[in-house]
Amino acid sequence: MKDENFLKENNARHLWHPMGHPGEAQANPPKVITSAEGVRITDIDGHQTIDAVGGLWCVNLGYSNATVKDAITDQLARLPYYSAFAGTSNPTAIEASQMVREFFAEDGMARVFFTSGGSDSVDVALRLARQYHRLRGEPTRTKFLSLKKGYHGTHFGGASVNGNPRFRHAYEPLLPGCVHLPAPYPYRNPFDETDPAALAQRIAAVAEDEIAFQGADTIAAFIMEPILGAGGVIVPDPSFMRLMRDICDRHGILLISDEVITGFGRTGDWSGARHWGVQPDMMTLAKGITSGYFPVGGTMVNDKVAEAFEGADADGSIFSGYTYSAHPVGAAAVVATLEETLRQDLRTNAAARGTQLYEGCLRLKDKHDIVGDVRGGHGLMTALELVSDRDAKTAVDAETVKRVHQAAYEAGAMVRMGPPNLLMSPPLTISEAEIDAVLSALDTGLSAA
Ligand code: PMP
Repeated sequence: MKDENFLKENNARHLWHPMGHPGEAQANPPKVITSAEGVRITDIDGHQTIDAVGGLWCVNLGYSNATVKDAITDQLARLPYYSAFAGTSNPTAIEASQMVREFFAEDGMARVFFTSGGSDSVDVALRLARQYHRLRGEPTRTKFLSLKKGYHGTHFGGASVNGNPRFRHAYEPLLPGCVHLPAPYPYRNPFDETDPAALAQRIAAVAEDEIAFQGADTIAAFIMEPILGAGGVIVPDPSFMRLMRDICDRHGILLISDEVITGFGRTGDWSGARHWGVQPDMMTLAKGITSGYFPVGGTMVNDKVAEAFEGADADGSIFSGYTYSAHPVGAAAVVATLEETLRQDLRTNAAARGTQLYEGCLRLKDKHDIVGDVRGGHGLMTALELVSDRDAKTAVDAETVKRVHQAAYEAGAMVRMGPPNLLMSPPLTISEAEIDAVLSALDTGLSAA
C-alpha cells in the first residue's frame, strides 16, 4: 500500500467518487478505509469504528468471513473467468442459480438472470417486463409505475423510475412513460395523512386513477422496494404492497419487488415482500447476495414470466447481458455467501438486533429534540430523520447532519448520511453489545448537533 501522505494527497486528484461533488472531495478529503474485521473498519489514521452502514447496506456477513474469501480465491485458481453468453456456462454459476432459486422459491421465484449489481438487475427487470408483454401480444404495455422516494439504481431505466429528484434532474430527459405515485411515508405526504393504513388506501386510489388515466394497456410493470431504503427507510403499512399486488393483478401489470437491500435477511426475513404476504412477479437482487465481497446482482422471474419466454419462438431470446453475468468468481462468492447466510441463520439475528437498534433509536428520540422521526422495526434497516423544529417538521440542513455524523464517527460508529436522515444498516452478524455501542456513539453524535 502507498504511504499515508500519498493516499491523502491523491485521493481526490484522479478519483471521482459516486454520489459526491468532485470539488468537495478535494476540499474535504473522504475517510480512507484501510482494513476491516468483524463489524469494525479502520481508517488511514488508525481510528476504528463499528460500521453501522455495512459498507453500503451490503456487508451482511461482516468483514472476516473466511469461507467466502476462500471460495473466491479457490475459484480464481480454477477458472477466473468465462462468459455465460448463450453457448457456454460454468459449474459454479449453475450451482449458484440453484441456490438463489431455492432461497426465493417461497416467494414464487423460478429463474435467475445474473448481473453485475443492483442497477443492472433493475434495468434487466424493466426490459424483461416489456418483452414479456410483447411476447404475450401486448406490445403497447411499455410504461412503468413506481414510488416517489424509491431508489432503483443509476442506469437510465432505474433512474427513470427513481423517485428522488436529486438523482434525476442532471440526467433528464429520462425514459418516457415513467409515472411516480406518492410514497407511503406517513411522516410527510401530500395528503397530510398520519395513519399508515389510511395512507396506503389513498395511494392505492391514486394508483387506480393514474392507471385509468394512462390506460392499463400501456403499463408494463410497477416497481417498489418492500421497505424503501435510500429514501429514508420508509416502512409502508403492511396492507400497502398487498393492495398494489391486487391492483397489478386486476390490470395485467407485473409487480417487481426491488429487493437489492431487503433480500437475504436484512429485514429479518429472507425477502422484504414476505413480510407483507406478497409474491411478486419479479425480484431484483444484489448486495447481500455476496455480502459485498464481489459485484453480483440478479433478476428473478416467477413461473408465469418464465413460461412466456421459454414457450416463445425466437422472440423469447434475451438480448440483455453483461460480460460479467454469471461470472464464475462472483458465482463462487454467491454460493459461499448463501451457505454462510443460512448456516448462521442471519435473518434471526437481523430481526433481534434490528428490534434492539430501533427501540434504542426511539429512546434517543425521547432524549434529543432534533430527532423528528425514527423508522425501522423490520430487521437491520433504521433511519433517524433530523429536524430543527419538531412541530413544523423543518428538515435540518446538510451541515448539521455532517456534524452529527462526524461526532458519531469519532465516538465509534460509522452511520450513513442521507440528509435530513441518518441511515443505519450494520452487518447482520452484529452482536447485542455492538448495537449498544452504536447507540451510544449516536447519542454522542446527536448531542453535537
Ligand atoms: N435498488 C435498490 C433498492 C438499491 O438500494 C440500490 C443500491 N443502493 C440499487 C437498486 C442499485 O444497486 P447498485 O448500486 O448495486 O447498482
